[in-house]
Amino acid sequence: MVTIQVPNLINFVADIFNHSDSSAEEARRIASYLTTANLTGHDSHGVIRVPVYIRWKKMGSLVPDQTVELVVDTPSLAVVDGKFGYGQTVAPQAVKIGIEKCKKAGLAAVALRNAGHIGRVGDWAEMAAAEGLVSIHFVNAAGSVLVAPFGGVERRLSTAPYCVGIPRQGQAPVVLDFATSIVAEGKVLVASRGGKKLPKGALINLDGELSEDPSVLYGPYEVEGPRDHSKGKGAIRAFGEHKGSGLALICELLGGALTGTGATGPNRRFANGMFAVYVDPKVVDPANFFDGEISRYVSYFKDTKPAAGVDRVLIPGEPEAAMRADRTQNGVPLPDDTWAAIVNTAREVGVSEVSIQRATQ
Ligand code: NAD
Repeated sequence: MVTIQVPNLINFVADIFNHSDSSAEEARRIASYLTTANLTGHDSHGVIRVPVYIRWKKMGSLVPDQTVELVVDTPSLAVVDGKFGYGQTVAPQAVKIGIEKCKKAGLAAVALRNAGHIGRVGDWAEMAAAEGLVSIHFVNAAGSVLVAPFGGVERRLSTAPYCVGIPRQGQAPVVLDFATSIVAEGKVLVASRGGKKLPKGALINLDGELSEDPSVLYGPYEVEGPRDHSKGKGAIRAFGEHKGSGLALICELLGGALTGTGATGPNRRFANGMFAVYVDPKVVDPANFFDGEISRYVSYFKDTKPAAGVDRVLIPGEPEAAMRADRTQNGVPLPDDTWAAIVNTAREVGVSEVSIQRATQ
C-alpha cells in the first residue's frame, strides 16, 4: 500500500491528463473529482480509473475539452448532449444549467445524454446542494451491461446509480448516492486489484451460483493486466431483490431512454446518461419549515439504539464526510498494483520521472 498526499495526487493525475490532450483546466478538474472520490471513500470511482480513462481517450471513446450542446431549452427544462466529453467536464456544465433554471423557475429538469463517465454522482448532488437546491439523479451507463435483474442470471442492466441530495442549513447535505447493483463495478475492480473484498453473493454465474470472485465478471486476469468485463460470463446482482432491480430499470428508462443516451445494451459506445430534477425548497416552502424539520427529524432518526456491532446510526453522506476529513489530513491510501498501473499510464503518456517521483514525496 502507498499513501499519497492529496495535493501531490491531484498534481500528478492532472499531469497525466494534461499529457493526454486535455487542457490544463480540464486535466485539473478530472484529477480533483477523481481524488474527491478517493477522499470520500469511493476508491472504485477514484484515481484507479486513470488507466481506463486514458485507454478510452486513445480509442476515441472519450473526447477532451467538450462543451455540452443545448438540444432542447425551455425555461424549466434542458436536454444537453455531452458529445462523449469527460464526465468531469460535461456533467458540471449540465448541473450548472439545472441550477440556473431552478433558481429562476423553482423547479427544473436536465437530461444529459452521451456523457463520458461522470464518476461519483454525489458530486453533482453536492454541487446543487451548495446552491441550496434539492436534486434527484437517475443515471445509466449505456454500453456497460453488467447486472442481472431480479430473478435472472444474465446481464441486462448497467450499475445504474441513483442519487438524491438535500441541503441542510449550516451542515453538510444529506446525500444518498449508490449503484443499484449490490456493488458498483468499480468495487469489483478494486477487489480484483487486492482492495476490499466483495460482499457475500455480490456476483452470480451463468449457472445461477452466487460468488465473490471478480473473475466471474472479468474472466481470468493477470494481476497487473487490464480488466475487461466482456471476458467474463457472470453478472453483478441488482441490490434489494425486486425493489432494487425495479429502481435500476427506472434509472435505465429515465437516465438512458429519456435522455436519448439509450438504455444499456451490448456492443454500444460507453456513455453515462443522467436525468436530474432540481427543486428550490425556498419556493416550495417560503415559510421555511423544511430546515427545522430536517434538523428535528435527522436527530430523531439517528437517536435510535444502535444494533449490536454498530457504533451509531448515520445518515447518508456522513460516512463520506468522515472519510474526507481523515484522508484530507492523512493522504489517500492506494494498493500497490493500483499505483503501479497509474504510474505505468503516466509513463505511457510521457509524464516525466521527476513528476512521478514528486507524487510520492
Ligand atoms: P455504497 O454502497 O458505498 O453506498 C453509498 C451510499 O450509502 C452513500 O449515500 C452513503 O452515505 C450511504 N451509506 C454508506 N454507509 C452508510 C451507513 N453505515 N449508514 C448510512 N448511510 C450509509 O455506494 P456504491 O453503490 O458502491 O456506489 C459508489 C459510487 O459509485 C457512488 O458515488 C455512485 O454514484 C458511483 N457510481 C457511478 C456510476 C457511473 O456510471 N458513473 C455507476 C455506478 C456507481
